Amino acid sequence: MKYLVGSPRSTYDVVVLGSGAGALTAAATAAHSGKSVLILEKAPLLGGTSAISGGMLWIAANHHARHAGFEDSVDKALEYVRAVSRGRGREELFAAAVNHGDSMLGFVEQELGVRFIYLDNFPDYRQDLPGSVDGGRTIEPQLANIDQLLGDLAQHVRSDGRAPFTMQEYEDWGAFTRFPWGELDARAKAGLVAKGRALVAMLLAAAIREGAHVAVEARGEHLAYSGQGADDGGRVTGVVLASGERIDATEAVVIATGGFEWDHTLADSMLASRLYTMCSPPTNEGDGLRMAQRIGAQTRGTREAWWAPMSITGDTRDGQPIGTLLRFERQGPGSIMVNRHGKRFANESQNYNDLARALQSWDSPNNTTLNTPAHVVFDQSYLERYGVLSHRAGEPTPDYLIEGATLEELAAKIGVHAENLVATVERFNALAQKGEDPDFHRGETAYDKYWGDAANAWPNPSLGPLERGPFYALEVVNGAFGTNGGIATDGTARVLDVDGAPITGLFAVGNATESAYASGYPGAGATLGPLMTMGYLAGRTIAGQAAAHDGEASSAAGLADLAGAAR
Ligand SMILES: Cc1cc2nc3c(=O)[nH]c(=O)nc-3n(C[C@H](O)[C@H](O)[C@H](O)COP(=O)(O)OP(=O)(O)OC[C@H]3O[C@@H](n4cnc5c(N)ncnc54)[C@H](O)[C@@H]3O)c2cc1C
Repeated sequence: MKYLVGSPRSTYDVVVLGSGAGALTAAATAAHSGKSVLILEKAPLLGGTSAISGGMLWIAANHHARHAGFEDSVDKALEYVRAVSRGRGREELFAAAVNHGDSMLGFVEQELGVRFIYLDNFPDYRQDLPGSVDGGRTIEPQLANIDQLLGDLAQHVRSDGRAPFTMQEYEDWGAFTRFPWGELDARAKAGLVAKGRALVAMLLAAAIREGAHVAVEARGEHLAYSGQGADDGGRVTGVVLASGERIDATEAVVIATGGFEWDHTLADSMLASRLYTMCSPPTNEGDGLRMAQRIGAQTRGTREAWWAPMSITGDTRDGQPIGTLLRFERQGPGSIMVNRHGKRFANESQNYNDLARALQSWDSPNNTTLNTPAHVVFDQSYLERYGVLSHRAGEPTPDYLIEGATLEELAAKIGVHAENLVATVERFNALAQKGEDPDFHRGETAYDKYWGDAANAWPNPSLGPLERGPFYALEVVNGAFGTNGGIATDGTARVLDVDGAPITGLFAVGNATESAYASGYPGAGATLGPLMTMGYLAGRTIAGQAAAHDGEASSAAGLADLAGAAR
């Protein structure tokens, strides 16, 4: 255990396990109320998945949107999250996340100095479901100067090495081939960071300003528990680390240790479908889930994950192979996805969570997977227009890209019937020229169009033909950002025991828990939005404070200023 901030002590009011957005929001909120707080991170680096994420937050009926004149309501959002969660969620968690999302947002902005930009036209993921909107619920962090915020501590915050640009800029620039790379290099040299790293930097700086101590290489292993159980004054009293050290928590322990995706035994036994790859830090091994289970915590929703179609391209994190998320590669006009039979099987432009569910289909007659592995297929002109991942036309073809001079040659290389692949491409091309996809309705919704290319010469931003060889294929498998089921909590993040009673002194937030929206993925930021809200509610509850914060009533004018400053 290595203290990065503060000096060793054996007792705190609150001990927080993990250092992602869930942990930091809980820690900073509790510390803001005067509690002494210790943040314990198992890895040598801080920030978890949150630091390498897009950093977007899905907050329904948020004040940024309100000030921009956007019409939304808690009721409309509740209708939507009920629909999107496929009947698996709990009203208590829906209400907690939707009702208090904007309180959390106002609090972290006004009291903790975290700054956001409002994305006015980022559509909800399921435009077909009641209560969805085509913009207004997704916000993202402003660019932040990590060196100014954290000084030497900046080097201890996890990075994925990406250039510092916001989602708003991505939208404006359209494709990686059109990015101002020189300007982005200059930003990076100046210490600017974006997305999840900016979010973590601002939250961590806030927690430290509020007095929290921070230690890394500190793996929580057991919860200390006194008493016989809930009926006998039993409570969690601290944490025992893998090193054997014990830290006492006089008021609460908060488990925010992320998902269990890197524990292959847990993932195989619990998830609804085989997880081929993931891209979170390998330290997310379900430790918090096991710690809570040992003292009788209830678990829920463990079949689920934040599913996403991914390729295995040789990327690594902390020395472990990870998956690479596919977005524009499958959503840009001029690429399609085909299954083991060389046929399209889904709308390639739909949100990653639902598309990955299509990868999970089982081919019963042949007793094998139907759509895994799938392949993204595109042509030379697509490569010249957009590039694919970090590869650009004219560079040597990387190992992860399969190349064929003709579609027939490509089909042979990826093991699908050539006549099927040729027929699939011919039909797609004919329809794409007209801007239509009657087979899978790609390009019909605001969501699909958002992720297409507005500058596309064909009549639909999502559709374009594949005509000029060589042709390329990229293998796609079922991956995930992380699991999203686990410890069951109530609407204030208190951990519930197997009988549904709160375990005194124990809170849990984030991917270590059942997601507030269960199996649903309502829109961009639907993991960080609710999990930071639950982190905020944990901090407020530990401090004995109401969900609404003091600044809320007087926030109207201040919020207008914040929104203005953020643009
Ligand atoms: C590329 C990418 C982009 C994404 N973009 C977005 C986005 O824009 N918006 C969105 O909402 N979501 C996004 N996500 C998902 C989101 O990042 C995660 O769902 C979220 O960060 C999880 O936060 P968390 O606080 O639960 O856990 P994490 O951020 O994963 O943090 C958990 C931490 O706990 C530590 N830990 C584990 N075990 C222990 C232990 N025993 N003791 C102490 N510490 C421990 C881990 O090392 C880790 O640092 C993205 C994910 C990825 C990979």
